[in-house]
Amino acid sequence: METIWILGDQLVRCHPAFERVERSTARVLMIESAAHARRVRYHKQKLVFLFSAMRHYAEELRAQGWTVDYYREQPDFEAGLVAYLRQHRPSRIWLMEPNEYGVAELLKRLVAAHGLSLDILPTTMFISDRASFAARAQGKKTLVLENFYRRMRQMTGLLMEPDGEPTGGTWNYDRENRQVPPPDHRFPPLPRYAPDAITREVMDWVRRDFPDGYGVIEPFHWATTRAEAEDAYQDFIEHRLDLFGPYEDAMVRGQAALYHTLVSPYVNVGLLDPLVAARQAEQAYRAGKARLNSVEGVIRQFIGWREFIYQIYWLRMPEMAQANFFGDTRPLPHYYWDGETRMQCLRETITQLQQTGHTHHIQRLMVLGNFALLAGVLPQAVNEWFWLAYIDAYEWVTLPNVLGMSLYADGGFLATKPYVASAAYINRMSDYCQGCAYNPKQRHGEGACPFNSLYWDFLDRHRAKLFPNQRMRMMYAAWDNMDPQERTATLAWAATLLTRLEEL
Ligand code: SF4
Repeated sequence: METIWILGDQLVRCHPAFERVERSTARVLMIESAAHARRVRYHKQKLVFLFSAMRHYAEELRAQGWTVDYYREQPDFEAGLVAYLRQHRPSRIWLMEPNEYGVAELLKRLVAAHGLSLDILPTTMFISDRASFAARAQGKKTLVLENFYRRMRQMTGLLMEPDGEPTGGTWNYDRENRQVPPPDHRFPPLPRYAPDAITREVMDWVRRDFPDGYGVIEPFHWATTRAEAEDAYQDFIEHRLDLFGPYEDAMVRGQAALYHTLVSPYVNVGLLDPLVAARQAEQAYRAGKARLNSVEGVIRQFIGWREFIYQIYWLRMPEMAQANFFGDTRPLPHYYWDGETRMQCLRETITQLQQTGHTHHIQRLMVLGNFALLAGVLPQAVNEWFWLAYIDAYEWVTLPNVLGMSLYADGGFLATKPYVASAAYINRMSDYCQGCAYNPKQRHGEGACPFNSLYWDFLDRHRAKLFPNQRMRMMYAAWDNMDPQERTATLAWAATLLTRLEEL
């Protein structure tokens, strides 16, 4: 009897093993591992989402005629596997290549301990190819998304014209995507999916067995079935896609979604197919329902950035996990856990994260990551925090995004320069600074925004490493042209703040 072992982040519609076995005799194995869920203090909604989506997926497969052996609330994978093997003796166990490094080896060892072996099939959750990505990357000191993205556009034909040129004549419309909505702008509401009996049962388990998880468990509005996930994406196309581009970098108090898709949790567990989603976005453009700069931005997320970071992860593991270019060592300040800080940008973002398990990419990059980098927090501590707190985060997501892109811990393999900014950026792109306890225009002294002195101090302390980078020259020119007394006062204030990080 053949068995297909399906992991919690592999809930795809068309599993590659489905076409290799006989549906009437094969069995599908799914195991909930509490030990896996306890590796870090995952957000409670993330656990509810994952386990509920797994249980709903098992029902989806049963409705299609598959025999599913689903092992609930097991202490670990081995306990579930042993329970399964007590009842069944598979002739063969199929597994789709896990998304995370080391998981395949772990499961292979587990299975081998019982005298069996795993047959691993290539993943269908990504459309780029590891071998050709690795071949192109060989010998390169940095990799550029834009080159990879153009190849993906050509490969898929998305937003391409018959003459081989990109639709609209330009590959990337980011320049048009940096607007801030006016204060009276009204945002469309998000679809919400009430927890059903399956989700409520999972919530009881998470409340009971994972009380220390990050954030709050309710209200829980995430989709947990494929039909709901597809509905959520259609709602985005209908109501948010058109204005996604112009406002994608803006941050607005009290607005968790703005015009973002909020479907990354679904795509990353297989409930939504990113290529199908990208084609649907293109259709909306061709039908005149959405502007090109918005559609191009969404397509770049699905087939550009997501694929790119997945490939970088596999290319650079396992050494990437230890990267620490600046040698930072500070612990993550308490407010990343409890949200209690007078810095309004951090407070708003972290409160939203606690309540939903999600914030958009600029909040992640330019508020949370930016501050951690300026403050010199240990990259591995920041990475683990993003991994546990975000509903769409997995190791393959956070290591390139957090260590590489946000913290520059890989020394510039992924990003051409560190994404650091003072309060001026946050003040321009958000309404967070209005009413904040700190003054975004003040550089030093009581009441000065901490981002300001820490920004200049960051540049100053890492001069030897960053000055040679051409893209940093303007920042260093501004610093070097500053009045020497002002520079001294700024550095002295940054030194004071670094001793009071927990009190900001
Ligand atoms: Fe954040 Fe500084 Fe603006 Fe306050 S003033 S919201 S701390 S950037």
